[in-house]
Amino acid sequence: MRLDVVSLAPDSLAPLLSLGVIGRAFAAGIAELHTHNPRDFAEGSYRKVDDEPYGGGAGMVLMPQPVFAAVEAIPVLQQRRVLLMSPQGRQLQQADLRRWATGYAQLVLLCGHYEGFDERIRSLADEEVSIGDFVLTGGELPAAVIINGVVRLLPGTVGTAASLDDESHSAGLLEHPHYTRPASFMGMEVPAVLRSGDHGAIARWRSQQQQQRTQQRRPDLFARWQAQQREQQ
Ligand code: SAM
Repeated sequence: MRLDVVSLAPDSLAPLLSLGVIGRAFAAGIAELHTHNPRDFAEGSYRKVDDEPYGGGAGMVLMPQPVFAAVEAIPVLQQRRVLLMSPQGRQLQQADLRRWATGYAQLVLLCGHYEGFDERIRSLADEEVSIGDFVLTGGELPAAVIINGVVRLLPGTVGTAASLDDESHSAGLLEHPHYTRPASFMGMEVPAVLRSGDHGAIARWRSQQQQQRTQQRRPDLFARWQAQQREQQ
């Protein structure tokens, strides 16, 4: 998959994406990262990328010309999606990561700075994405979150594809608890069923735990999952 990030701070991305499983995926060519700095496309000798807001107010606004020029210079693959990082966007879900990982060959991620984008820049985007109800200084961390989440779903990045299917949010429930050795630690025991060797009983226990855990911790998710179950019956 080709990932193009439009950012005024392109150097901040590499350290976020060069380590561990994701770093190895880039090294193996499973995904390729390209950065594009609007400043390189800005007109005038000062290469100005921001200006004061019309109507007054605090902060500077990212100008449309350098961002449009940066995006126009990016090669266009078939099946491309342009995502604009914004705290005003729809909140990121695991289902979005899966949709982008499976449905697209190229993601273009637009990172804002300062007070945000000139409103006309939004017309470049297919989707506006927020990573949560809080405000960061720039779109690089949100872009790195999305890239990490998408790249780990690409075939070859994570060893066992099955581990992706079982985890939290993949099927609408949180994951069940995990234990490893020792069987007893500081008076805390591993549930006997996990050591029973009875795969049917283990699967039932895990399924019950998933439901119980989701109901306790995320009643909103649990209600949605129950509704889906009812629809499928
Ligand atoms: N003034 C803007 C507002 O109130 O909506 C916030 C601008 S923020 C300081 C600068 C940039 O950081 C945004 O344009 C966006 O690209 C990025 N950003 C900040 N918080 C974000 C979040 N929760 N999700 C996605 N992007 C975010």
